[in-house]
Amino acid sequence: MNREILINVAYIAASILFILGLKMLGRQHTARRGNLLSSVGMLLAIVVTLLDRHVVNYTWIFAGLGIGTVAGVVCARLVKMTSMPEMVALLNGFGGLASLIVGAAEYLRLRAGTVSSETLVFTHGVVFAAIVIGGVTFNGSLYAFGKLAELLSGRAKLFRGQQILNGGMVLATLGAGVGFALSGDAGVVLVCFAVFTVLALALGWTLVMPIGGGDMPVVISMLNSLSGLAACAAGFVIENNVLIVAGCLVGTSGIILTAIMCKAMNRSLANVLFSGFGSVPPTAGGEAVGEAMEGELKPISAEETFSVLESARQVVVIPGYGMAVSQAQHVVRELAELLEANGAEVRFAIHPVAGRMPGHMNVLLAEAGVPYEQLVEMDAINPIMHQMDVAVVIGANDVVNPAAANDQASPIYGMPIIKAHEARIVICLKRGKGAGFSGVENHLFLMPNSRMLYGDAKATLSVVVAELKSLAAC
Ligand code: NAP
Repeated sequence: MNREILINVAYIAASILFILGLKMLGRQHTARRGNLLSSVGMLLAIVVTLLDRHVVNYTWIFAGLGIGTVAGVVCARLVKMTSMPEMVALLNGFGGLASLIVGAAEYLRLRAGTVSSETLVFTHGVVFAAIVIGGVTFNGSLYAFGKLAELLSGRAKLFRGQQILNGGMVLATLGAGVGFALSGDAGVVLVCFAVFTVLALALGWTLVMPIGGGDMPVVISMLNSLSGLAACAAGFVIENNVLIVAGCLVGTSGIILTAIMCKAMNRSLANVLFSGFGSVPPTAGGEAVGEAMEGELKPISAEETFSVLESARQVVVIPGYGMAVSQAQHVVRELAELLEANGAEVRFAIHPVAGRMPGHMNVLLAEAGVPYEQLVEMDAINPIMHQMDVAVVIGANDVVNPAAANDQASPIYGMPIIKAHEARIVICLKRGKGAGFSGVENHLFLMPNSRMLYGDAKATLSVVVAELKSLAAC
């Protein structure tokens, strides 16, 4: 078997490992092994590529590998779980930048005249794709990072004629791409190259600008998909099969995740990208807006909460973004353990868009050591919600808002929710009257069976846990 065939067989093996790994990532109990399997596939792909005869100089490669390894280890150790969306945004961005650089390097090689003219149109086409998609991904991801890290305002920025400007820039980019691929004049080709590179970088900025900070996870997932397509284009540029396959996998999985998030919010991708959702703050004080609600908020103390929970036999915990903010996951796990020791059955009901990134709650609860078996999906808990003695809503708001099901005028109407209001007693932990991401009033808080446990979730739950511990000690 010649070297070329051996390399491609190894690439196929690596691709199979990627696909199996991805499939295993879909279930919590196989996710770690899936991650490992994909990593082995990547190692195989890297080693085979390094042994490939096309590599003539290892110095830069090992320097990059060293710097990348150090940066990766430092980030993995230092970046907090709550900062993961920012981290993912940066990583996506660098993926896009890498594709842009590969495309630009290939263009410089073409200028040196080492590619036959028959393949020039195709090669110029894929160079254009790698640079444009890579440029949009890079700058768009940097902008998303800035919003999530609160270096830039999280508000959607809208101005008159914005979509016309963006549309014009897209057309100009495509026009420059056509000139780049078809023109035989080296001067024209260079100008086109410069134009679409600059426009792609600018588009990354202007396309993300009108999207609110809360929608950044959707944007990041979409940019992640784009970074895959950019890598795929780079794979065509350098004729590397495994890069083409891996790029396609990232591209498709990113777009599937984007679709899942949009569906869970009952919004279309176009609505997320172009509606300017989040351009106006809910109210000056960050309080909720919406139809005036009747009823009153009924506070409950931590001690009273203990008494309610102590006698409960079926408890469901519904975590949301506030649990991540207060970093209450460890005390939540302790609470569940103490309640189980007290004879209760405890479940954790997870909404697909609770928090600010897909799987946000799952990651936090896994970090705290909550057994996977206790996690229940929205569709599984809703039919048995009426059997729950107590629903403990920890920093969740939009994902339990009955207005999504009942109020056709509500901006979140149609979004599937966890029906916490159907439990016998609902205890809602939050600091005050702060709105959720959507800024919409939550009717749940005023329902006759709801009680408000005000304060930072970690602080109030710590009091409940201390009471349960002293009960256990008696
Ligand atoms: P949410 O609706 O944003 O509500 C979070 C609540 O947590 C707030 O009402 C806040 O009230 C409370 N809170 C904040 N800090 C707290 C603390 N330290 N202790 C206790 N409570 C605290 O959260 P959610 O119910 O998880 O819903 C997620 C939202 O994000 C949805 O609208 C979803 O569409 C959107 N979204 C999610 C994703 C994703 O991938 N997960 C992506 C894009 C958009 P106080 O200020 O009164 O404390």
